[in-house]
Amino acid sequence: MPTTKKPDRRGGKITPKSNTIKLKFDTSWSYAPAPESKSAATIKPQYDLFINGEWVKPASNKYFDTINPANEEKISQVSEANTADVDKAVKAARNAYEKVWKKISPKERAKYVFRIARMIQERARELAIIESLDGGKPIRESRDFDVPTAANHFFYYAGWADKLEYAFPNRNTEPLGVAGQIIPWNFPLLMAAWKIAPALATGNTVVLKPAETTPLTALKLAEIIQESGLPNGVVNIVTGAGATGAAIVNHPDINKIAFTGSTDVGKIIQRAIAGTHKKVTLELGGKAANIIFEDAPLDQAVEGVINGIYFNQGHVCCAGSRLYVQESVAKQVIRKLRDRIESLIVGDPLDKNTDIGAINSRQQLETIHKYLKIGKEEGAEMYQSSCSLPGKGFWCRPTIFTNVAQSARIAQEEIFGPVLAILTFRTDDEVIEKANNSPYGLSAGVWTDKGSKIFNMTKRMRAGVIWANTFNKFDPSSPFGGYKESGFGREGGLHGLSAYVSLTN
Ligand code: NAP
Ligand code: MG
Repeated sequence: MPTTKKPDRRGGKITPKSNTIKLKFDTSWSYAPAPESKSAATIKPQYDLFINGEWVKPASNKYFDTINPANEEKISQVSEANTADVDKAVKAARNAYEKVWKKISPKERAKYVFRIARMIQERARELAIIESLDGGKPIRESRDFDVPTAANHFFYYAGWADKLEYAFPNRNTEPLGVAGQIIPWNFPLLMAAWKIAPALATGNTVVLKPAETTPLTALKLAEIIQESGLPNGVVNIVTGAGATGAAIVNHPDINKIAFTGSTDVGKIIQRAIAGTHKKVTLELGGKAANIIFEDAPLDQAVEGVINGIYFNQGHVCCAGSRLYVQESVAKQVIRKLRDRIESLIVGDPLDKNTDIGAINSRQQLETIHKYLKIGKEEGAEMYQSSCSLPGKGFWCRPTIFTNVAQSARIAQEEIFGPVLAILTFRTDDEVIEKANNSPYGLSAGVWTDKGSKIFNMTKRMRAGVIWANTFNKFDPSSPFGGYKESGFGREGGLHGLSAYVSLTN
């Protein structure tokens, strides 16, 4: 019989006397811990840069720590690439492009891309563990979403490599050359796959920079690429912070920039390459409207909303962070949402039962706290789950704001955390007006029983992806990208190929 109080699996306390769980919500059961083993992952204490098929020391000889946001412990240290390193990587990519990759037959290209996909599958468990350790996301997500979807992107684009004449009928395609690719921390391996797979399939070579806080799965991918026998220099991976990204953007021998990240940095990049020959695709921020009509199956919709905003701690550009509920069902939906967030398990990302893991970094946690304060000051009502949080690491309880005004900052600005702003509406026209009243236009969701309503809404809403009676569903064959300040260009699907070719007739 334990003598000390332990945190329960869903926020209550286990009392030593009876071992029963006192929870604020009505349940008589709980999950036993089911931690994934760290020992299935090999992480080196230090990583150099992956340039020209080899691990090379950074010119600056500087390294920085990457930490586990769930306990703030150092996991490894990675190199800080400066302009000289980026130049070396771009030269390697150019050389590989001119001498090997653009000349190799499309069928051979396909084989390599396919092989990388297979190797990601073979090492799926290890990659999932590292993703959760380095970034804080629940293992269930890394295991069931990030890693398999990353492998699927390589499979999908391997299929296109020798069929470009069908993708672009009656046109000649040429690769662009060297692609500089910069990715964020919310889906580190998946974003690398989104960027690298179509670039390789179309005959381009790559210099990729992962985010400062989540470099490890990209470096693991470098190991896979090395083992796959991909010709040296076709993919180069350089780690560092914003300055390393800027060195890629400003390098004169880059032909294309593919960037996923914040709208602010997207604007800097656009300014930096204005007037140059460089092509660009920008996948930026979002503030998705998720709309529930009174005729929707409410339980299903509530589950979809939960998935839409609390998935990956709300670190999702297309997160359904603005919920519009038709007035007649608002009370009911809010009650269901409050009940549901109370049952979400927040804690150890490596535990297979965890719903919400750690916030990616201290800085991001501070941003979220800033918005919680703003929300309260703006007069919205805040409700948070009563779960207990681990003592160390970066955590945020799932949060709901009601009584939110359309003009409120928490309804207009991207928070990038597990924070939902709930607004109400009466008519279709009103909600379309409100949903479109945003600088962003990345994604949206509609919940209704009526097909005609879905078509009406999807035609009139300005968002790149609109889900109907579901949310956050991805497939390599579907294009993804935004309108307005959510960026331009599409990744995924056939559209994702056109971002990496020029059509010469
Ligand atoms: P971020 O600060 O813009 O960083 C994105 C990447 O750019 C990181 O690798 C970052 O390096 C690098 N970077 C920073 N400053 C740079 C500069 N001046 N020049 C070139 N590169 C630079 O974004 P984040 O905070 O990592 O990611 C969250 C944002 O990404 C959110 O706004 C989210 O909506 C957006 N996002 C969009 C999509 C989409 O598909 N539309 C998908 C995922 C995320 P460091 O990390 O080392 O600073
Ligand atoms: Mg980390």
